Amino acid sequence: MQSASSASTAPDGTLRRITVLSGGMGGARFLQGLLHGIRTGALPRVSPDAVVTVIANTGDDWWIHGLKVCPDLDTVMYTLGDGIDPERGWGRREETWSAKDELAAYGVEPTWFGLGDRDIATHLVRTQMLEAGYPLSQVTEALCRRWLTPTYGAGLRLLPMSDDRVETHVAVADAESPSGMRVVHFQEYWVRLHAEVPAEKVVAVGIDQATPAPGVLDAILETDLLVLPPSNPVVSVGTILGVPGIRDAVRTTSAPVVGLSPIVGSSHVRGMAEQMLTSIGVEVSAAGVALDYGARSAGGVLDGWLVDERDAAQVERVEAAGIACAAVPLMMTDHDATAAMAAAAVELV
Ligand code: GDP
Ligand code: CA
Repeated sequence: MQSASSASTAPDGTLRRITVLSGGMGGARFLQGLLHGIRTGALPRVSPDAVVTVIANTGDDWWIHGLKVCPDLDTVMYTLGDGIDPERGWGRREETWSAKDELAAYGVEPTWFGLGDRDIATHLVRTQMLEAGYPLSQVTEALCRRWLTPTYGAGLRLLPMSDDRVETHVAVADAESPSGMRVVHFQEYWVRLHAEVPAEKVVAVGIDQATPAPGVLDAILETDLLVLPPSNPVVSVGTILGVPGIRDAVRTTSAPVVGLSPIVGSSHVRGMAEQMLTSIGVEVSAAGVALDYGARSAGGVLDGWLVDERDAAQVERVEAAGIACAAVPLMMTDHDATAAMAAAAVELV
């Protein structure tokens, strides 16, 4: 383990700043529990006024029907702003689909990707602002003034990982292509192909030229605790870490870095972490993900790692790699259960 007590933590050991690298649904649900835990005083050492900064993946973003859509930013924003559809886990509550039906009546492709009417308003505001020259980070801040500021004030900030365009693509087998492969946008892999065909390769197009959005590196370097929530380690956290400069900041921050396993037993709970891990040759297990992230003491990004209680047998393997590890319940069934996960993360490092 890197450092038992971080240099940036207040002298009394109180944690006042927490930064989280988040994808969509898994990250958003964890954040709900974290914020609930802060509000209810359920997190040891965490100040009730602690500021949470979320750095969200934007590799899932794409342009569709002339609109810029940012699925992970919006899932975090709607979830924490109480506008999410709780059953779907994405998009707006009480959604209607007239625009989608009208587009289909025109025969406009792609018909497999539906934007809800309420959701479209968000994308219209975002697209207009981007076209007026505002960077995504400022657009996100403006959108969050509606969703987050009324409830959290300055206690919560949502930042895109980068203002630059980065789009994750997935290569799938295609017998008809000369290369034997075809590359589809991440959204097509997930929404149209339901992640049912094996992913041969995952590529974040544009990432090498991307720079971290304003505030991102500071939020990593000047925090008291950095958390990798149980987000997809490849296409959510992995993409964020892939933005030049971010992984180095995570490696060098004086704050402890703790992660929670998105794999419970031998599978992801929801989503497609399994497919993505397989595509990069990482063992689909809690320990497999931890070892892939690696210990900070060995050039990786973790000081601590939580596995689910049913994966307790893997704790030793993770610890042997130089990562503090504990087994606790990791199912985000409700806010209290998720707050308990956040508390365990705080306690571990
Ligand atoms: P996405 O962008 O919507 O796919 O969301 P994230 O990348 O933030 O998180 C998706 C991952 O969350 C999934 O691959 C799951 O492995 C994980 N996940 C979802 N629900 C739970 C849960 O209750 N417990 C744990 N440990 N992981 C979960
Ligand atoms: Ca996502």
